[in-house]
Amino acid sequence: MNKILDKIVQNNIENITLGKKASYIPALANVPDGIGIAVRDSHGVYTSGDAERMFTFQSMSKIVLLMLALKDNGFDYVFNHVGLEPSGDSFNAISNLDFNQAIKPYNPFINAGAILTTSMIKGETYDEKLKKIIDLSSCIFGRSNITFNDEVYVSERESANRNRALAYLLKEKELLTGNVEEILDLYFRACSLEVNCIDLANLGHFLAFNKDACGVKGDHLRIIKTLMLTCGMYDYSGEFAVRIGLPSKSGVSGGIVSCAPRRMGIGVFSPRLDEKGNSILGVRMMEELNKELELNIFR
Ligand code: GLN
Repeated sequence: MNKILDKIVQNNIENITLGKKASYIPALANVPDGIGIAVRDSHGVYTSGDAERMFTFQSMSKIVLLMLALKDNGFDYVFNHVGLEPSGDSFNAISNLDFNQAIKPYNPFINAGAILTTSMIKGETYDEKLKKIIDLSSCIFGRSNITFNDEVYVSERESANRNRALAYLLKEKELLTGNVEEILDLYFRACSLEVNCIDLANLGHFLAFNKDACGVKGDHLRIIKTLMLTCGMYDYSGEFAVRIGLPSKSGVSGGIVSCAPRRMGIGVFSPRLDEKGNSILGVRMMEELNKELELNIFR
């Protein structure tokens, strides 16, 4: 496995400057170039490249936020407020939340849906809710030293006009209840949680088996994997499913968490993105790994 991962990194490293880093969150544009991959299977963890480099969780945190929303409220409540359908629009689209119609966000993996699932996390105080995010991440990653990137957090909080607009629109539609600014803050915190490829491989491995663990129900893991396959790669989800065929979730920091059901978890990272917001080399590495190991669930 180590040889395969090394080969995949070597095949791609020369293109490390292809694409653009996310810049709508100013601090993300300053991240150095890099490339990393990690796989976790029942035998252990395998890595290559910058697999231990920390980057921010961004949209991949939407998985943890959904786990907590489902745990605290159950399937019916969550999906009465947010849909189960792919959107085909960009991840921060506002158009489907039409001003005159009471339409729920398409799914929990676009920003509008994730801001809603964040609002469903129960707790007396902000700190109690944040602790739930930290504790679940810690249990899944198998480490207790969870940290946040404050620069990215502040940068996003101060530039998030679109997410703020989405959240207030959800509030106006009475889909979202509670203090909007506090909910947004919790969402930005979750996005700024620091992870590396090994953490993502552990998350993928956690998802790979529908077993109750860390207080999350196995049946919820099945639902989350299905949504990852249909909605996890923004408006590239359909093509990614055809080309790679694995439940995956990407983030604008350049990470992708992926899961080969009942086999392994995978984490890849490279900060430069294509126009849809997916890591260019991350997608390429996933394609190569898929071919090497025949992972596609539809093969
Ligand atoms: N924090 C980012 C946002 O809300 C996450 C988006 C992403 O990774 N696609 O815009």
